[in-house]
Amino acid sequence: MEVLIVEDDPISRKLLARTLAKLDYQVIDTKNGIDAWDILQQKPVQLVITDWLMPKMDGLELTRAIREAELPNYVYIMILTSQEGIDNVIDGLDAGADDYLVKPFNPRELSARLKIGERVLDLEQRLRGAHDKMKYLAMHDELTGLWNRRAFYSHALAELDHAARGDLSLCIIMLDIDHFKSVNDRFGHLVGDQALKMVADTLMKHVRQYDRVGRWGGEEFIVILPTTTLEESIDVAERLRVKVASAKLPLKEPEGDGALQVQISLGVACTIGDEGIELDTLVDRADEMLYQAKEAGRNRVCVYSETTGE
Ligand code: GH3
Ligand code: MG
Ligand code: MG
Ligand code: MG
Repeated sequence: MEVLIVEDDPISRKLLARTLAKLDYQVIDTKNGIDAWDILQQKPVQLVITDWLMPKMDGLELTRAIREAELPNYVYIMILTSQEGIDNVIDGLDAGADDYLVKPFNPRELSARLKIGERVLDLEQRLRGAHDKMKYLAMHDELTGLWNRRAFYSHALAELDHAARGDLSLCIIMLDIDHFKSVNDRFGHLVGDQALKMVADTLMKHVRQYDRVGRWGGEEFIVILPTTTLEESIDVAERLRVKVASAKLPLKEPEGDGALQVQISLGVACTIGDEGIELDTLVDRADEMLYQAKEAGRNRVCVYSETTGE
């Protein structure tokens, strides 16, 4: 683990560096708070041992700067100083330090105290990992890895707002797998799940860079296409239809030989930003067109037209 030493006195610095190296820490040493602060901007060092009295920026100023900066990771700070006395200790801890040790230090005590720091940092990392995982799960559909309805919806609201302010066009595609119930009935839910995943992967692979795909529910998906005209979005929808229809899920025994293929029906609806349309209205229109595609025989694209209302 890396430790950043901040110490203006060369002899103390050398002694501390040598002790830490013996304890298997990778040492970065600096002479004052300013130099240490520069390094912390560039490198995610999480363990800092700082002297108090130093020219330019002292240890307490450095500690306060670290706490105020809200760096991406927690920095565990130990003040190691010859300033003894309870009032100094309190000032140091009040500034934001995690520990306070008076020079000359005992190497075994220093080691034991650094281990406390490592435990705190380990705990923080595990908490951060759990938090990131929960955040991911709250936004994504577990089976397909696509955005879930809620995440998609908030992204779509922001895109619609952006389109309205910039007077830009924006399109929504709603799509649904045809006769999916019979896939589950024939091959079982596990194969059904794999087919859903295959469709999701195919959609992701064939939308454009700024388009976003979400799982709207069951076997229904939604795509948002920012700054896209009606004609362009029809091309995208048609491409998705063809790509999904040609994707193959290899079937193993005992499900049967060969490969499973599914088809989708799609509904498209667009807006020019200045219409002031609600997202729900746009989604409803795409959904109506999806329904119409089903009615018209499935495996096709239907497009909402302003003039006819369908
Ligand atoms: P249509 O062409 O009209 O859309 O027919 P359909 O059979 O696809 O539509 P229906 O709404 O009757 O059935 C949808 C099926 O999708 C039923 C449901 O069990 C299945 N399904 C929804 N979510 C999942 C899932 O996560 N995994 C699996 N395996 N099946 C799912
Ligand atoms: Mg000093
Ligand atoms: Mg369906
Ligand atoms: Mg459905």
